[in-house]
Amino acid sequence: MGVQNSPDTRQNPEPDLARMLSATDLAGTRDGFERLWTPHRMVYIEGDDRPLTDEPGPDCPFCRAPAGDDETGLVIARGRWAYVVLNLYPYNPGHLLVCPYRHVCLYPDLDEAETVEVARLTQRAMRVLAGVSRPRGFNLGMNQGSVAGAGIAAHLHQHIVPRWDGDSNFFPVVARTKAVPQLLAETRRLLAEAWAREETTEQESEQATGPA
Ligand SMILES: [Zn+2]
Repeated sequence: MGVQNSPDTRQNPEPDLARMLSATDLAGTRDGFERLWTPHRMVYIEGDDRPLTDEPGPDCPFCRAPAGDDETGLVIARGRWAYVVLNLYPYNPGHLLVCPYRHVCLYPDLDEAETVEVARLTQRAMRVLAGVSRPRGFNLGMNQGSVAGAGIAAHLHQHIVPRWDGDSNFFPVVARTKAVPQLLAETRRLLAEAWAREETTEQESEQATGPA
């Protein structure tokens, strides 16, 4: 009957392995089905290409990201003391990280100016994400130390994860294709443009309510 070795792709569509493998190289989707929302598993979100040392410099992805251009580093916005970057291993689309430029490990290590700017950038990031993708909620957080799930424990970073109803259900279905570099680049562009609009709106609002 010729039933052996005759796969019917109409009934058993094969995944696009080339696409999946390339996405794995760059976006850490190898454990896509394990990315359920549990904070201690944030380590997966940050992938396996962790630096070999805790030293600042090119070995650290959060020192490296702002050193080049925004597109290459997936940088959304730059403040004076801290910057906003797309997570290369997003739990959800638009998963952002706010990082101080300074290579410090723990939240209390931030000085006053850094603390204020990380907070301000976090607030603005939430407004930008709300305008772009209308999430129903957010998770904010910092994993302090590898024992607490920090993938890059040596360089502080605050997670901002937009949430939608049912996202933990549909995410495994789409995880294998959503984090390819093209989508991250497009997400970065969308958010960077929205960030500039939000900045303008905030400035206009301050001028309107400020002293005459
Ligand atoms: Zn660093």
